[in-house]
Amino acid sequence: MRNDSILLGRAFGIPIRAHIMLLILLPILATLYSSSFILGLLFVIGVFTSVVLHELGHSLVAIRKGCHVHEIVLSPLGGVAKMSNIPARPMDEFQVAIAGPLVSLALAVILLPIPGPVLPYIGYINAILFVFNLIPAFPMDGGRILRAFLTTKKGRLQATKTAVTLGKVLCALFILVGLFGLKVRLFGFIGPLSRNPILALIGIYMLRAGQAEYRMVQMEYQANRRNGFQNGEIEVEVSPPPYAQNENPLQSWTEKISRLFKNR
Ligand code: ZN
Repeated sequence: MRNDSILLGRAFGIPIRAHIMLLILLPILATLYSSSFILGLLFVIGVFTSVVLHELGHSLVAIRKGCHVHEIVLSPLGGVAKMSNIPARPMDEFQVAIAGPLVSLALAVILLPIPGPVLPYIGYINAILFVFNLIPAFPMDGGRILRAFLTTKKGRLQATKTAVTLGKVLCALFILVGLFGLKVRLFGFIGPLSRNPILALIGIYMLRAGQAEYRMVQMEYQANRRNGFQNGEIEVEVSPPPYAQNENPLQSWTEKISRLFKNR
């Protein structure tokens, strides 16, 4: 049934899978990040291990709230935890949503001060994962936190709509900046950015994930009105990969890391 991903192992009973594209791209990613293949590979594996730990953060809190976590799947575009029986109570949703970024923050705090050729960089990636995931737009964790907050004010359907709309704006910006770059500096710290097709791909991926979730909430809402509650399945997470945030990320990361290796 599943021939597009491979089972890597289980953690707390949750299957951890890797999409076949990630396994194919892994050696290529490793060579992008370092002139030493082994160090590059350790770095990339460390990054994706961080994404798994982030997803496990969400998953373990979700299980405590009565969710069923089907699997965690890693792809070149990030990680998703697939769950059903999601808590709709705002406080539960907030706790599930914040757990992932808190894991990333903890990893950043632990790894950044450790000297060495790989660990502090994985720490840095975790700091980016923490900040990036808190952007208040669907389907980022920040979007879920925003929805939980808005749900208390105007109901879950309307709250989802607002968070999804913000998500669409964000995705459109990702796609535009990814395709055309950003020539000017905004707010004093964003840009100028060069073209980055991966950012555009992430934008498209997030757009689809956000819309799928909105449809799910709509269906759930209609089912609730007709015949009681119906549990849907959602993809809780789009933990974006590390190579999408920097100015010309691939290049700057290669430079940063190769510079570090040259000093040794
Ligand atoms: Zn997350």
